Amino acid sequence: MADVRRPRPRAPFEAETEDAFPTAYLRPGEADRVVAGHPWIYEGSLLRLTREPSDGDVVQVKDHRRRFLGVGFFNSKSKIRVRVLSSERDDLEAPFLDRRLRDAIAHRQRFLPGATSFRVVNAEGDRLSGLIVDKYEDVLVLQTSSLGMDRRKPVIVEILRKLLKPRAIVERNDAGSRKFEGLPESNSVLFGSLEEAEMKSLPVVLNGLRFEVDILSGHKTGLYLDQQVNQALVAGFARGARVLDAFSFIGGFALHAARAGANSVVGVDQSETAVAAARRIAAANGLAANTQFEAANVFDWMRARCTTGGAAPAPGAPPPAIPADKQFDVVVLDPPSFTRNRASVPDALRGYKEIHLRAMRLLRPGGILATFCCSHHVDAQTFAAVINESAYDARRALRRIALYSQSPDHPILSAVPETEYLKGFAYEVLGV
Ligand code: SAH
Repeated sequence: MADVRRPRPRAPFEAETEDAFPTAYLRPGEADRVVAGHPWIYEGSLLRLTREPSDGDVVQVKDHRRRFLGVGFFNSKSKIRVRVLSSERDDLEAPFLDRRLRDAIAHRQRFLPGATSFRVVNAEGDRLSGLIVDKYEDVLVLQTSSLGMDRRKPVIVEILRKLLKPRAIVERNDAGSRKFEGLPESNSVLFGSLEEAEMKSLPVVLNGLRFEVDILSGHKTGLYLDQQVNQALVAGFARGARVLDAFSFIGGFALHAARAGANSVVGVDQSETAVAAARRIAAANGLAANTQFEAANVFDWMRARCTTGGAAPAPGAPPPAIPADKQFDVVVLDPPSFTRNRASVPDALRGYKEIHLRAMRLLRPGGILATFCCSHHVDAQTFAAVINESAYDARRALRRIALYSQSPDHPILSAVPETEYLKGFAYEVLGV
């Protein structure tokens, strides 16, 4: 057997490219995660640079023993000094981007067949750190959050045109993360043309339902595509049911449930704009009759609905029963991330606990709770533990019936834990 530790003889090619790109050497102990496929190299991991690269340039990355690890984009203004994109020697120009984009599209075709609107590229999950591309039918929306990627926009646009034949490609570069890379905000049409009205309301089909997306001012890039698969799955519980969709946004879960034959659906979201859109979309799909959307804070709305009017229960006693006519058969909880950092996790957990406790009280015995957590800082185990605490306080027993994750167009790369953020569970909520 060959001795794998023995260094391979150097190809002549190596000597040449040694000079082609500046080299970033890593400190001892920093190489393994890069070899495993994690693309971020922070300032503190760098030992030295052979020459000072210009921001946005390609550098090659080596460990302290001069073993070649990969190539990536350098930026001295970013805490992430190097974003590694390939473990091969590559100039990261058109042929590389073409390969990666084809790979990303093939992944969607394989695991999300039939979808016409989806995230085409999700940065690290597609080994394209710094690039996000969404497809809304025949319009593409692009975000670049690293300088190196930003510079390659014209090439990326060309490749996307060739591979996906869009009618228009829009740049939506107003993400706060760009300022960490020293990049200005920039929103424009990069290819094709799009009416102002279309930007505000572009028709989109998800699982055969018609939605609309506001490309310029919508949340994130305009739609929660990461829930596309889960919306269809959760609708499987809805036939004949009274459904509550809490944090409904434009009614993703609500309208899937209504189409699946729910008896009645209530969506609650604090955004007036989202609620107005949800009502419009319900009507456009012929689902207005049994859906209702309310603009309210879910915490207040649930508290009011759970108020029974009787005396407060003694400390430690189970909460009073909610009248059956105020209860639901299915409750969906899909709140925003209650925490953007580790420090506020305890507050976030209190928030999760409160909505779960109330959701369980609002469910009839045997009802179904489908609940999601999109905070990277709250992992599935912690999330499940909070749900268990809520069940204890509500005096309910939970029987887990499903596990959910983000849709396949938001791929999870094992070596990059940051790519995994959305988790969800469905439970049958049993009475005592
Ligand atoms: N379920 C939606 C996505 C929800 S995103 C879908 O599948 O498309 C989270 C939503 O929660 C946003 O629309 C936001 O407006 C809303 N929101 C945030 N805090 C809220 C609160 N306290 N009460 C009600 N809605 C809230």
